[in-house]
Amino acid sequence: MKKSAFMWVVAGALTLTSCGSVPLTGRSQLNLVSDSQVLQSGLSAYTSFMQSATVSSDKVQSDQVTRVGKRIAAATEKYLTENGLAAEVKNYSWEFNLVKDDQVNAFCMPGGKIVVYEGLMKLVNSDDDLAVVLGHEVAHAVAKHSNERLSQQMLAQYGGQAMGMILQNKSYQTQAIAQKVYGLGANYAVILPFSRKHESEADYIGLALMSLAGYNPDNAVGFWQKMSANGSSKVPEFMSTHPSDSKRISDIQKNLPTIKQKFYTAAVTTTATKSATTTSTKSAKASQKKTTSKSKKK
Ligand SMILES: [Zn+2]
Repeated sequence: MKKSAFMWVVAGALTLTSCGSVPLTGRSQLNLVSDSQVLQSGLSAYTSFMQSATVSSDKVQSDQVTRVGKRIAAATEKYLTENGLAAEVKNYSWEFNLVKDDQVNAFCMPGGKIVVYEGLMKLVNSDDDLAVVLGHEVAHAVAKHSNERLSQQMLAQYGGQAMGMILQNKSYQTQAIAQKVYGLGANYAVILPFSRKHESEADYIGLALMSLAGYNPDNAVGFWQKMSANGSSKVPEFMSTHPSDSKRISDIQKNLPTIKQKFYTAAVTTTATKSATTTSTKSAKASQKKTTSKSKKK
C-alpha cells in the first residue's frame, strides 16, 4: 500500500476515534491528543513564559484585561453549559494577564491562559475594543485549535507510528511524540501561527463570544481597521497569519448580522430583562419594607 493510501486508511480509522467538533461552528476536527495532555503541555509553556515575562504595572489596564476576559469566559461557559457542551472546557482554568511588552500582540495557550501585551492596549479605547481581542483568543482555546494543529503535525511527521500508538491507547508514547512535534517546554510553540482557517474561525467564534458577554460586536470592524492602520512590521499571533486585513474585515462585516441576531440580541435582552427584574424586585422589596414598617407602626 502506498504511504499516502495508508495515511488515508489511518486517518479514516482515526475519524472514528478522534474526531471532535468545534463548538459554535460545528466543524469537525482531528484531535489526536487528549485534552489533559494538551492542557498539561500548555500549562508548562505558559508557566515558563510568565516566569520570563514582566507583568504590567499598569493597574487600570491590567484590571481591564481581567474584567473583560472573565466576563467573556463566564458567558462562554454559560453558553456551553446551556448547550450540553460544558465538558469541552471543564478542565480549563481561565487566566488573563497583561505583560510589559511594546509589541501589538496577544495570545492564548491551551486551557484558557491568555496574555495581552501592553503595546496592544494603545489601540484599545474601550472594553468593547478589548473584547474583540479577548473574544478571539478565548475562541482559539474553546475551539481547541492547538490540539488540532498538533494533531495535523503529528499526522504529517509521524504518520502511522503515531497513529498506531494512539489507536492502541499508548498515551505515554503519544505524549512523547506530541512533545517532540510541538516542542513544548523547549520553546513557546503554542505561539506558532495558527492556520488561516483557524484565524477565520477564531474571528467568527470570538464575535459570538463577545456578543454573548454583552459587548457590541459592531466594534470589531473599527478595531480591525485601527489594527490594520497600525501596520506592525512584526507578525504577532493576533495579526499574523493570515486572513489579510481587508479579507478579515469583510468577513466580519459579512458575519455580523447573523452573529448579532443569534448571540448579541439575546445577550442584551437577557441582561436588560435581568436588570429590569432586579429593579422591580428591589422596588417590590422596598414597598414591602414600607408596608412592613407601616404595619409595625400600627
Ligand atoms: Zn488568532
